[in-house]
Formats: sequence, C-alpha cells, structure tokens
Amino acid sequence: MRKLTDKKIVLASHNKGKLREIAELLEPFGISVVSAGDLGLEEPDETESTYAGNARIKAHFAAANSGLPALSDDSGFSVAALDGAPGVYSADWAETPDGRDFDLAMSKVWDKVKHAPTPLAAKFCCTLCLAWPDGHDELFEGEVFGTIAWPPRGDRGFGYDPMFVADGMSQTFAEIEPAQKHDMSHRADAFDKFVKNCLES
Ligand code: IMP
Repeated sequence: MRKLTDKKIVLASHNKGKLREIAELLEPFGISVVSAGDLGLEEPDETESTYAGNARIKAHFAAANSGLPALSDDSGFSVAALDGAPGVYSADWAETPDGRDFDLAMSKVWDKVKHAPTPLAAKFCCTLCLAWPDGHDELFEGEVFGTIAWPPRGDRGFGYDPMFVADGMSQTFAEIEPAQKHDMSHRADAFDKFVKNCLES
C-alpha cells in the first residue's frame, strides 16, 4: 500500500458536514488540507452505483485537477427494512428544486418503514479514496450499525444523523458530541484504516 508523504492534500468534497469531520480527523497528523471548493474545482457527476466507484470518481478528479493527493468520501445511510436504501443514493433522496432538504429525506425513509417491526436496523457506510495525481489510489471502508429513531432528535451533525442511534447508545448521532461521533462513526472507522495503512510507518 502506498504511503502518503505529502503534507498537503485536497479534500475532494463539497459537503460541509463531511469536510468538517474529515478536517477534524486529519488535524492531529499535521497535514494541511484545502477543499475542492476552495480550489474552485467542480463537483464531478457521481455516476457509479457503489460507494467505491463514486469515491474514486471524486478523488481522481480532484487529484488530476489540483496536482495534489486527494481524499474523497462517499457514504450513505442504509436501512435493513428497505433492502439497504437509500444507500449510495442518500444525498439524492434529499434533492429538491431549492437544494437538499434532509428533513424531507428522513421523512421519506420513515414513511416507508413506519409499519415495519421494530427495532429498525440501519447503518452508515463510508468509503474513503486517496488518489494521487499519477492515477494510483487506495480505498478504505467503514461502517457503524444501529437503529432508527423517530422523530429525529438533535441539531449537531448533518444528513441523516438525527434519526440514527448507534448500537449501545441512547442518543442520536445529532445529539452526541462531535468527538464521540469521531470515536465510532463509519467515517472514523474508514479513517483509522487510512491512517494505519498510509500515514503510519
Ligand atoms: P455522497 O457521499 O456525496 O453521495 O453523500 C452521502 C450522503 O449520505 C450525505 O449527503 C448524507 O446525507 C449521508 N451521510 C453520509 N455520512 C453521513 C453522516 O455521517 N451523517 C449523516 N448523514 C450522512
């Protein structure tokens, strides 16, 4: 596996919630980060049907257009009673003509599962892709398992956080401290693998 030797990388995302979390996870490693948006890079279309495929599209696009290694995140919320939906299409379920509305996306999920037996199993999945300008890449996957909470609770976090309670917890991902989410989230799980493989010697 290739090590990351550069001290500066691009975060290949335009999602403010993800950018904040990844920048916080990277902070202790002395790597400076610039976001794709800061560099004026466009958002490439996510045309694949897997997290890995879409993570690759985003990281390679940012690496090729910036000349720096790029780290992307493709992630989603998966509900067992919906055969894994919304999954890779988690952001699409929030689309409205006026932008993304996650209250709407969470209601869509709830409408489809509200008559299913409880507890309603769900998970978050994350694939991180680190791509270099020469075309090489490495992929890291993470998951966190839990159940659906309804009505949504909390104003921290982003996306589907207010309707997800991780196994062993009573608060939703939008109620807990950011540091607590960094200890157990799907993104942190994938990030730990990135650190072990690409940052530690
Ligand atoms: P994409 O990876 O850009 O396709 O977007 C993934 C979508 O999954 C986000 O817009 C969120 O709705 C959702 N998602 C991913 N990670 C999280 C998380 O940590 N909390 C809540 N929602 C998330």
